[in-house]
Amino acid sequence: MIPKDHPRYASLVRREKIAEAAKKGTVAMEGVGSHGRGEAFDYLIGEKTTKSALTAEKTAAALFLKAERPVISVNGNTAALAADLIRDLQKATNAAVEVNLFHRTEERIKNITKLMEDSGVVVVKDEVSRLLPLSHDRALCTREGIYSADVILVPLEDGDRCEALVKMGKTVITIDLNPLSRTAKNASLTIVDELTRALPNITNAAKTLREDEAKELISGCNNKKTLDDAIKEIMENLSDAVDREIQT
Ligand code: ATP
Repeated sequence: MIPKDHPRYASLVRREKIAEAAKKGTVAMEGVGSHGRGEAFDYLIGEKTTKSALTAEKTAAALFLKAERPVISVNGNTAALAADLIRDLQKATNAAVEVNLFHRTEERIKNITKLMEDSGVVVVKDEVSRLLPLSHDRALCTREGIYSADVILVPLEDGDRCEALVKMGKTVITIDLNPLSRTAKNASLTIVDELTRALPNITNAAKTLREDEAKELISGCNNKKTLDDAIKEIMENLSDAVDREIQT
């Protein structure tokens, strides 16, 4: 039991969810490592949604609203941390949701699909085939879902698949706390924020954005600048931390 008044309550609850899901096999062991890397970057960011991240979240909502076939790709970590938040985003944007795993087994696909459905998510259940230009099982996706998407949200993605999706002409939005990752650099738009903070912000923006605001956000979308701003925000946060140390 984590005490609610613990200063890092939210982070510890997320860690516990990942540990529980790893025991059940929903999260792959590699996913536990990825989560740890995310936690480290969240510390550097100050465990808050930064200004540039909020703009990216609103831009993601705008891209989803303008999309013809928006799709959300869900992996084990996303399912463990945010099944209900994915449901809310699906409701706000009518996006299709596909369970697509890096460490793919039929059992994990079945369990994660059930977890999502139990939270009220409608999951694409088409046959998968090798439709992405990648080696191995990472090439697998459904024709109805990821293959046909024009705009795709792939939270906590790996760099290769992100690059392959962009090369296929898709607008790829990722959520990744590490602004230096290959995924962050390859995506059309990277939200440098923690998954469970980012998703509600995208959903809220999808519900409230005006047409003209959406247009302006899309025309200003520049992933290189978004990443540069995120790195600057980390540097400012670190510099504030040094100043505080000097004063004590
Ligand atoms: P890349 O191939 O993009 O360089 P990687 O090997 O650094 O990838 P992966 O482990 O494939 O990374 O992907 C996980 C990424 O997701 C990491 O960069 C990590 O910082 C980030 N991450 C992990 N948990 C979260 C979370 N809860 N919210 C946002 N980002 C997260």
